[in-house]
Amino acid sequence: GAGGMARWEYSLNENQAFWDDRLLAMLGITDGENHRAGDAWASFIHPDDRAGVVAHSEECLEQGKDVARDYRMVTADGAVIHVRSRGKYVEDEETGPRYYGVNFDITEDKLRAQELEIARAGLEHESRHDALTGLANRRRLDEVYTEHIEIMSEKSGRLAVLHFDVDLFKQINDTMGHDAGDATLRHVATILQKNTPDSALVSRVGGDEFVALLFNAPEDALLDEMAAHIIREVSRPFYYGPQECNIGTSIGISVVDGLPTAGTNLFINADLALYEAKKAGRGRHRFYDTTMSEDARRRKNSSDALLAGFDQGEITCYYQPQFDATTLEVTGLEALVRWESAKYGLMMPDEFLQTAGDMGLIAQFDDLVLRRSLYDVGVWEKAGLVVPRVSVNVSANRLNDPELGAHLSRLNLPSRKITFELLESAFLDARNDVIERNLKIIGEMGIDIEIDDFGSGHASIASLLEIAPKRLKIDRSLVAPIVDHQRQRDLVKIIIGIGRMLDIRVVAEGVETAAHVPILQELGCCYLQGFGLARPMDAQATEMFLSGLAETGGVLKLA
Ligand code: C2E
Ligand code: CA
Ligand code: CA
Repeated sequence: GAGGMARWEYSLNENQAFWDDRLLAMLGITDGENHRAGDAWASFIHPDDRAGVVAHSEECLEQGKDVARDYRMVTADGAVIHVRSRGKYVEDEETGPRYYGVNFDITEDKLRAQELEIARAGLEHESRHDALTGLANRRRLDEVYTEHIEIMSEKSGRLAVLHFDVDLFKQINDTMGHDAGDATLRHVATILQKNTPDSALVSRVGGDEFVALLFNAPEDALLDEMAAHIIREVSRPFYYGPQECNIGTSIGISVVDGLPTAGTNLFINADLALYEAKKAGRGRHRFYDTTMSEDARRRKNSSDALLAGFDQGEITCYYQPQFDATTLEVTGLEALVRWESAKYGLMMPDEFLQTAGDMGLIAQFDDLVLRRSLYDVGVWEKAGLVVPRVSVNVSANRLNDPELGAHLSRLNLPSRKITFELLESAFLDARNDVIERNLKIIGEMGIDIEIDDFGSGHASIASLLEIAPKRLKIDRSLVAPIVDHQRQRDLVKIIIGIGRMLDIRVVAEGVETAAHVPILQELGCCYLQGFGLARPMDAQATEMFLSGLAETGGVLKLA
């Protein structure tokens, strides 16, 4: 398209239009005639858009309203362009009512948005599937499960979860190499798909763990047979090249008839059953029964204990440094919540945030982490240590709190650099007034916004454009495998490309080894975070880390 802006006028009484030279150029008209018949315009509208656009302008015309519409036009040379048309209705005493309008050629923007949308749709698929086996991944599994539970009723059939763990996988990976490990996982994936009903969702949920979700599951006796059969199939030797490989599998099974009762989590139950199966020796399967719930894991998850811990000040945060990708200078710290339980030891977020969420405590946890980290950083700065920025995680829940703005202003935030990492970014597509207002307030307070976990259930490009975050953070599940997998590297490259186009800097998390660093530098990543550079540490360890770094000029030396 020619780009740019053109001007037009339209007189209702005369049914005559004036098109300026730029509009003629935009439409590829070469006769130089600026005065055109009133309906000439409609013939340039793309046939698919014509009826709607004409109806819209007739309605505006009758009511004397301004017109505003984006649509496609076809130029005299047959090219399709996208225009944004705006017309102002004016009562002219001499000539009667007229429209004064402008048309913008927005073809480039549209094409760019479409390109991004295609890239994003690709990502969306990638982010729900395991690149190695093509199976669904944990995220997809969770989605399908949640959706299914929501539409389930008492009358729904049985739902079964089979959790598989590959026995001896580590040995294959360690002794025969990575490729043999990959081939093994693909081999297992094929067996699982072959030996479960077509309607089952088979997913790979971790290194060598798979979960099958069975809808309308058969009765226990048949499940029992299915499990025994799969165990036999997996333990059959197979060949990797000339080499014979021997593996096996253990299976935990949990089943529910109709609707699961509140607090029942089939995944946790299947996992507990798997634990029992492995304890009994390899190559076995176990059905979940309630006695297994007396397992420590359940006690740990108990909400009473968490509430007590919260009251006793056991909720605190760890800090993980972030680095400039090129210079490896510290650029900030991410505060990560921890529960330092006197009873259970150090508890990680995935062990208690779910419970905290169920109890409506997430906002309070987030708040505590924000205050705690500001306090700690203040102390370090007084001691002469530099912390350019501190990032805290903000759950969707909190961004939906109408009181957030009032609350933040009471905190008297220092003028230092604070970043809010927005979690569960997919929800940003369903924004409402509260979120809108909170985002505005956050922006006005000078707090940076970063989209966390980009590439996994992330926000659409449209809402990215609107929110205009400072940074995007690529999910660690995408970054961690880049050293070994070209596909994953390509994916990260796409995301960095999206960031570039939208002028948003990209942070990579899950930088697990020194080998990740040059790859991410090459791909154009701006900031790095990961176990390969520095692990999350408690306040004391963080202080030591920072002062150690000060001695090397603030730059991390890679081992
Ligand atoms: P996140 O925001 O994506 O945080 C990064 C997580 O990745 C942290 O796990 C960190 O320890 C881990 N990580 C960092 N580098 C690496 C690496 O190289 N490899 C691997 N495998 N992992 C790495 P953590 O601390 O267990 O936090 C898990 C999640 O819990 C966070 O993911 C975030 O979603 C949530 N979370 C943590 N703190 C808070 C909080 O204060 N409020 C809320 N609402 N959520 C939080
Ligand atoms: Ca985060
Ligand atoms: Ca993240």
